[in-house]
Amino acid sequence: MDYFYGPGRNHLFVPGPVNIPESVLRAMNRNNEDYRSPAIPAMTKTLLEDVKKIFKTTSGTPFIIPTTGTGAWESALTNTLSPGDRTVSFLIGQFSLLWIDQQKRLGFNVDVVESDWGQGANLDILASKLAEDTAHTIKAVCIVHNETATGVTNNLAKVRKILDDYRHPALFLVDGVSSICALDFRMDEWGVDVALTGSQKALSLPTGMGIVCASPKALVASETAKSVRVFFDWKDYLKFYKLGTFWPYTPSIQLLYGLREALDLLFEEGLDNVIARHARLGNATRLAVEAWGLKNCTQKEEWFSDTVTAVLVPPYIDSAEIVRRGWKRYNLSLGLGLNKVAGKVFRIGHLGNLNEPFELVILGYETALECSKTQTLRVIIAAEWSHGLQLLGCLAGVEMILKDVGYPVKLGSGVAAACAYLQNSTPLIASRM
Ligand code: PLP
Repeated sequence: MDYFYGPGRNHLFVPGPVNIPESVLRAMNRNNEDYRSPAIPAMTKTLLEDVKKIFKTTSGTPFIIPTTGTGAWESALTNTLSPGDRTVSFLIGQFSLLWIDQQKRLGFNVDVVESDWGQGANLDILASKLAEDTAHTIKAVCIVHNETATGVTNNLAKVRKILDDYRHPALFLVDGVSSICALDFRMDEWGVDVALTGSQKALSLPTGMGIVCASPKALVASETAKSVRVFFDWKDYLKFYKLGTFWPYTPSIQLLYGLREALDLLFEEGLDNVIARHARLGNATRLAVEAWGLKNCTQKEEWFSDTVTAVLVPPYIDSAEIVRRGWKRYNLSLGLGLNKVAGKVFRIGHLGNLNEPFELVILGYETALECSKTQTLRVIIAAEWSHGLQLLGCLAGVEMILKDVGYPVKLGSGVAAACAYLQNSTPLIASRM
């Protein structure tokens, strides 16, 4: 039995892995190539230059590594720290928990700053720790920019300011796995020393690529860091960068072509427009949640995430049943509640390639069959531009599921709230006016 089979397409609304654009799929549909030929190093050189743009850095050095977000964490830590080094790390959900666990297992001395799941990092505690640490025993502050388990976004500019206020030299290590390419991220401006992401999130690629970017200060730290590392050693990458061949081991040719296309799509849309689109998707989702009479797991507006919303359900409903129903009945994939919030929340991922253009062009044609040529074009363009349409399908699905599981939702209420907002706020894309 093919468990994946369902009529129509699966509505993938987990917060990663996300929908892959058709053009990225096509770009990856190619044979293997000799990565030592002149072609792959030439492409790699431009990829390395271009990925710096997604981190908003000119001084950073990027590493494109065959790994996942977890490997990218390990790359960031082992290249900059030595066993026994003191780190400050914020525990606010499942992914920050896993990163802390990795830090402990790698032998670092972790000061865990814990908050309720649904709250952001407690930066007052960071300030008091830095104030007390006049001997500069804290070697790194590690923070997950966007906690995917709870839909909480931390304020990185504030972290930078606290480090500066205390003139503390600790490295600033940031997990941007569910933020980079979707939320505002400014590596240079915020003085981030290592930033990292994974290909399956807002880059909208298959899983398998970890992208890590190191500041000049992080590169200096890597020269004396004593953590054992082999596969992730930046030194090997830097050696091959100098040689102009770029790869210490075999890269995935297909993913490189996919990354090229993914970056081109992001640049074509414009990174600022991409971020604004995610803000609209986040707002629309939150309005729907409010209209359903449900609560956001995120406790304050300042932490609301524009890439994932974790929705709290009443105690008489098991949120895992919502996710099961979505899959079994509506071909809709929602995110489960993880660990402490298992059974209590379900997650709507609204990041990455939410509108798949090809499908929408067809939709545009069908809708416009009886219109003139210009009108047809207008409808097609409108369909491509209204980035919330795909999200609305998800919200409609959630409403039906809520009804299925016995929650007294008014069908259409969330969709109407989201539509009203999107209809007012969705702009035309500048390049297509
Ligand atoms: N960090 C965050 C914020 C994540 O959301 C995830 C995965 O969802 C990870 C790290 C781990 O990434 P991976 O599963 O690619 O190893």
